[in-house]
Formats: sequence, structure tokens, C-alpha cells
Amino acid sequence: TKWVYSFGAGRNEGRADMRNLLGGKGANLAEMASIGLPVPPGFTITTEVCTAFYDNNRNYPAELTDQVKAGLTHIEQAVGLTFGDRHRPLLVSVRSGARVSMPGMMDTVLNLGLNDATVEGLSEMSGDPRFAWDSYRRFIQMYGSVVLGVDHHRFEEIIEAAKHDRGVVEDTALTAQDWHRVVAGYKDMVAAETGKPFPMDPAEQLWGAIGAVFGSWMNPRANTYRRLHDIPANWGTAVNVQAMVFGNMGNDCATGVCFTRDPSTGENVFYGEYLVNAQGEDVVAGIRTPQPMSQLRAKPGEVPMEEAMPQAYRELLDVRATLERHYKDMQDIEFTVQRNKLYMLQTRNGKRTAAASLRIAVEMANEGLIDRREAVLRVNPASLDQLLHPTLDPKAHRTLLSKGLPASPGAACGIVVFSADEAESRAQKGEAVILVRVETSPEDIHGMHAARGILTTRGGMTSHAAVVARGMGRPCVAGAGGISVDYGTQTLTAGGRTVNAGEVITLDGATGEVFLGTVPMIEPKLSGDFATLMQWADGFRRLKVRANAETPLDAETARKFGAEGIGLCRTEHMFFDPERIGAVRQMIMAADESGRRAALAKLLPFQRQDFVDLFRIMAGLPVTIRLLDPPLHEFLPHGDAELAEVAQALGTDTEAMRRRAIELAEANPMLGHRGCRLGVTFPEIYETQARAIFEGAIAVAKETGHAPVPEVMIPLVGTKPELDITRAQVERVAKAVFAETGVTLEYTVGTMIELPRAALIADRIAEVADFFSFGTNDLTQTTFGLSRDDAGKFLPTYVEQGILPKDPFVSLDIDGVGALVRIAAEKGRGTKKGLKLGICGEHGGDPASIFFCEEVGLDYVSCSPYRVPVARLAAAQAAL
Ligand code: ADP
Ligand code: MG
Ligand code: MG
Repeated sequence: TKWVYSFGAGRNEGRADMRNLLGGKGANLAEMASIGLPVPPGFTITTEVCTAFYDNNRNYPAELTDQVKAGLTHIEQAVGLTFGDRHRPLLVSVRSGARVSMPGMMDTVLNLGLNDATVEGLSEMSGDPRFAWDSYRRFIQMYGSVVLGVDHHRFEEIIEAAKHDRGVVEDTALTAQDWHRVVAGYKDMVAAETGKPFPMDPAEQLWGAIGAVFGSWMNPRANTYRRLHDIPANWGTAVNVQAMVFGNMGNDCATGVCFTRDPSTGENVFYGEYLVNAQGEDVVAGIRTPQPMSQLRAKPGEVPMEEAMPQAYRELLDVRATLERHYKDMQDIEFTVQRNKLYMLQTRNGKRTAAASLRIAVEMANEGLIDRREAVLRVNPASLDQLLHPTLDPKAHRTLLSKGLPASPGAACGIVVFSADEAESRAQKGEAVILVRVETSPEDIHGMHAARGILTTRGGMTSHAAVVARGMGRPCVAGAGGISVDYGTQTLTAGGRTVNAGEVITLDGATGEVFLGTVPMIEPKLSGDFATLMQWADGFRRLKVRANAETPLDAETARKFGAEGIGLCRTEHMFFDPERIGAVRQMIMAADESGRRAALAKLLPFQRQDFVDLFRIMAGLPVTIRLLDPPLHEFLPHGDAELAEVAQALGTDTEAMRRRAIELAEANPMLGHRGCRLGVTFPEIYETQARAIFEGAIAVAKETGHAPVPEVMIPLVGTKPELDITRAQVERVAKAVFAETGVTLEYTVGTMIELPRAALIADRIAEVADFFSFGTNDLTQTTFGLSRDDAGKFLPTYVEQGILPKDPFVSLDIDGVGALVRIAAEKGRGTKKGLKLGICGEHGGDPASIFFCEEVGLDYVSCSPYRVPVARLAAAQAAL
């Protein structure tokens, strides 16, 4: 088996599409090398080695040793140096790289191959002893903490002591001699901590680092990250071993991290940070302040790379163009400049905010880099959610506490917490929290996830907090240096003000501002790029998208977001209104039909007006109205005062009402006297609702000239006779209203499919239905025999243990509930070819469920108004 793939110096055995085998980093290093970019040579040990390692009791495959040796020889020949040679030593980096970039994995070890002998060789070769000893101490520090597990504070203490002795503040003020002493101190400390001398044999160092990468695949941080991101454990990680290039050899050297476009806004500018005379993660470590790439982005006092290293910068601009043309996507790149020569160390598709994702997709399509189809596929539908939510009201009063970097846009407001665990536990209780940290690390991921927003006081635009927050879509203000955090007293202070844990602050991730207290928010503006992409998506989509809405406000929002009708208008909300609840209670408590009719007559005008309002807003579009569904029980009067009130209205006494209430109470209302069962037993209820619908529709038709098309939907049907009876009620009323008004309207009558029995006999139900709408909330409850309101106690455990892949109330259970949908769709259409089919559960706004709806051939999905754009995009992607 081939376990090792070389890259660079003309031997490129890998390609970008081999990321499963080589990991993202390795595959792209090979790809960059093969398109002629300057990549230091190296090799990748495949992810299959990782899998084999764990399958085989943590042992490597037999041929690995020889293949690694051959890989090293390739590097040695390419750069003309020898690993472990005391005069011309080859140094390498050892870098982990899974299929998807994964914080929590082992950190990179740089400068591997140094020891007491080779450091002298490096010193001679470079003519720079300070550089050589600085590299050596970096190596011991990284290897010591990453591979040998020595606490990194122990290293920092030794440096601090050295600086103190020499009376200097900056690391850069230390000389070769000083670093020499630091190295001696490091070695003693590591030996004391680990009980073994620091390994001097380069081969032992190499295998130690390789082992640490594979070992880190199963560490708790990596496991957490995988669980949160649905990454299977058997994917494994690759290991990359690569010739070192040095950004720390002097002022003509540098290292940097950048994006080919702005990852916050998507603007087409070169965006990033670099540091002169620095190595590796110095840029993100926050020890020195990184400088901007482009003059356009430089603030006073900053020295952009464009100015400091014009030649390397120009080369980098070429690389940027080459990479975008080649990958046809925004790239996140890492580079090093050694003595004015540019080297590329990494590229990958850059993480970006939802706004940036939209803008980049639209602009790349307009630039001709990708086509519109590709642009539509590029944007994650779920991420649109971020854009559709409120931002801070610019006119609102606010008290600025401090300002940091606008690291991830969006506004958030919540109580201050200072630890990830606290964030998680408070969020579980339903509180909105802002996680405040000096800086974040992979251990904080669960808390960042739980928080509404993240605030750090240290770190730049590419710090851990910033990158992770952008990926998660959490607003983030990073590097707010004006704020000091005291974990001990659980307070933060800025400009003389103190905020305690539990007090509210507001973040604006788009400006970097932090405010005291709550700042009001406003509705999102749907920008040009958003409208453009939606329009392209609509051109590809087959499924129609409707909204679930009952109030005029919801209906307006739905139209604004592009809904093509209402898929579910729940009429019970119209009953709970305080103005009406009295009449509703009288209706329920009435002893006989005439009592009920009297009460319903009071409700009729209210109901009619509701429909007039709704039909006006939805002029010309279909509106599906579900007749009353909840158990009567929910409307019962509570307490003596309410009982007495109803008694008085009905001309009876409180005691009689109490008895009636007890009579009506149900043991299991979800499976009780609800839905069409009400329509069957109390026909006057549905008749009144039908009258309100038709009278309302006719009024709007007369007023606007646009006749709405009411679709009357009967809930909870499980047998054909139920629909026969209730349909006849609706038709009778329609005929009567048309006769009374002299106006005839088009309308349809259909049913919810929300009971397994209905799905199974859908062929018979279809005989009397004009449409089916899958009520997948109830269908999920009744299929699983599971109450949504009670599932919270055990469902999380089910998902955690893998008994269920996802919460079936969030994403449709394709195997079970989906099978019923499929059966009903097929049987229904078997009876009636053109039977209109839709879905109106929460699932109508879930991209995975929408893909299923497309596959089954439904006509439309219906979801909450804010999710309409998500559904439009997901429906387009499902069709592509
Ligand atoms: P991560 O996955 O955490 O980004 P990397 O493996 O990319 O870790 O390494 C981090 C940094 O280390 C790189 O951005 C680069 O600056 C530095 N680095 C890695 N390999 C080399 C190398 N061969 N020569 C010089 N610097 C390197
Ligand atoms: Mg790292
Ligand atoms: Mg990297």
C-alpha cells in the first residue's frame, strides 16, 4: 500500500480532489505545487495510516518506516540538505491536516531536526547565530508542549526570567547568547518535568511528532469538535512533513495569513495580516501586533506589506489571482517570506460570514469565474438566517463601553459570562449570554456555540475567536484591548466602568462596538446581492414556497421575503384573542347547539375581518386556512372568576359551569376531541368558520378585483367519512354564501395528512380531497408515539447516543415519517393525478427536509416567514 505521497520539487503525487486521503492541507499543498506555486517540498502520510493505526492497536503499518524515509530523501535531494546533518541540516515542520480543518488537533511543530549539533550547522549556514538559537528554542518549546505535554507556561517563565535578567521587554531584544541560555534552561526544565532528557535524535523527534498528530485525533477537544460538526471518527487525519522555510531570519523575512477577499463583507480586496521577522503562529498569537497587507486597509502608523516588501507583495498578488482562478473560490492562505522570496504554506476555501458568502458568490458569477448555477449552490441556505435577523437600531440610545475589532458581523445582546461552561449551562436555561474571554481556544467551542455573541480582549481578525465565530455565524468583537477582564472577581472593566457577570451588554460585530445594557434592534435590509441571488435561485427552483402565517404582520413579512402564498393559517390563534375568548368560552360551555350558535354569531364578524385582512395582503395568492384544530379543553375557563363570567353570559350558575368544565377536560388532549372530530360533533363551528372565509374572500374580491383562492383545510382526518362530512359542511356554506351575495368564487377543500392512518389510506381520502398538506409536526408525534412537549427529557440523549441521527422535529425523519409521506403522495396521486401536495410542518424550512420534498415531488413547502428565503434557496439547490 502507498501510505506516503510526496509534493513539491517536481514530484506531486497528490491533487486537490484527494482530500479524503491526504487531508485538506496535504491535498492543497500538492495542488499548489503542481500549478507551479512556490511550495517547500514535503510529503503527506495519509489518513488511512491514522485509521490503520487505531484499527491495529495503535501500531503503524509495516511499510510506513521505509516510505517515510523515501519521502525524507526526496526533500533532502530537493533542497540539498540532510536531516540530522551537523553541517547542512534539513529542518522540517510536522503538520496535522484532516479532511476538514479542525481546531483541537495537534498544533504544528516547526524547526524539527534541531539539536545541540545541528543548531551549530544552522548557525553557520545562515550566518546568523541568533536566528539559529531562536529557532532551536522555538522547537524545544513547541515540541515540549505539543508532543511531550509540558505546560507552556513553564517555557514562558524561563523567557520572562531571561528578559528580566537582561532588563528588556521584547523577545526581539534577546541575543544569540540569551537564547543559548534559554535553550539550556528549557532542556533542564523538560528533563525535570518528563523524567527524560529532551530527545536529540532527529528521527526520534520526527516519529514523536507523527505519533502526537495521530494521538491527537482521539483527544477530548477533537472529539468534541467532531461531535458538534458531525465529523465521523473514522475519517482520520493526515500528517504533513515539510521542509522549513524561515520568516524569522531578519527584516527581509516575514510570515502572514490572509484571505483573497474580505471574509466579513466579501469585498474583493486582499485582506490579512503579516509580521516581519516572525515565524509560524506569531501572527495569530497576539504577542506582536500584526500589520495589514494592503495600503488600502492601513491605518495611520501601520506598515502594510505592500510598502514594506513590495516585491514579495507583488508576487503574492499574482498568487492570489492564480489561486482564485484555479479554485474558483475565495481562499484563506498562509505564506512565509524568506529573504524576500515568497513561499506558500497553505490554501483552503476561506470561511466567511453569510453576507460575504452571498457577495462573493454573486460577484464571482458576475466576474465570470463561476456560473449562476454554481453561485446558487455556493451559499449555504441555513446561513441566510444570519442575514434575516435584526441589527442594532442606529437611532437607538446607547452607551458605548469600548471598542474592539469587528470580527464577525451581527448584533447580539445578553448577559455577561466568563467561561464556556457557564455560557453553556445558562444558555440551556434559555438565557441569552455573551461569552467574554481574554482570548478563546478550542476548549471554548461549546461555550461559543451556546453564546449569542463573543467578546475577546486580545487577538486579531484571524484569532481563534474571530475565525470560529465567523464560521458559526455568531457576532464577535475581538481584541477589545480597552476592556480588562478579571476572571477572579467575574468582572470586566472599561473606561472606569465595571460590568459584573450576569449584567447585560450588547455587541455590534459589524463595527466592533460594545455597549452597556440592551440596545434595540431593527429589521434587516435585504441588500442587492441578496435579491440577486434569490432571483437566480427562483429561476432554478421547482418547489413553490409558502409561509405559515396568520397575523397581518406575519403575512406581510412573508410576502416581503418572497412567499408565494400561505400554506398554513392556523385559525385557533384567532380564538385566543382577549376580545373574543369570552365568546369562545360561551361556545364551548353552551349546553346545546342553539347556545353554541349564539356564541358563534358573536365570533363571526371577528373571524371575517381576520380573513379580509389576510386576503388583502395576499391578494391573488393561494391561502390555506386550517379550520379549528386544538382540543376544546385549551379554551376552558380557569378559576371561579372566569367560570362566573361564562355562567352569567349563558344565564346559568357557576356550579353548572364547573361540572361542564370537568366533563370537557381530557386526559390526553393531543389525542382527544380536536381537529375534524370537533367539526363532526359540532358542525356549527366549521360552518361559522367557512362562512367567515367565504364572506371575507368575497368582500376582498369586490374591493380589489383580485379574488383570493381560499383553500379550506380540514385537520386530523384519519378516515374518509370524516372528510366526507366536513367537506359537505363547507360546500353547503359556500353555496349559501354565493347565493346570498350573488358572487361565486373558486375554492378548494383538502386535508392535513398528520395521522399514519391517513397516510396509509390516502388513496381513499384523495377521492374527496383537492389537496393534501403534510402536517409533519403531528405526523412525527403520531408516528413515533412521542409528544413534542415531553421529548426534551430524553431526545437529546437519543441524539447523543446515535439512536436518532437528529431531532426529528427539526429535520424530517426520512426513514419513518418520510416513508409515510411517500406512501401518501403516491396513493393520493394514484387516485387523483393532479392532487396538490405540500408540507406545512416546521420541516418546511429545513434544508435537508426540503431536499426530501423535492425528491418526493411535492408542489410546495410552507415555513415560518423568516425562513422563506432559506427555503427558496434550498429548493433551488434541491432542483439542481
Ligand atoms: P494550522 O493548521 O494550525 O494552521 P499549520 O500546519 O498550517 O497549522 O502551521 C501553522 C503555521 O506554521 C503556518 O501558517 C506557517 O506559518 C508555519 N509553518 C508550517 N509549516 C512551515 C514550514 N514548512 N516552513 C515555515 N513555516 C511553516
Ligand atoms: Mg494551529
Ligand atoms: Mg495553517
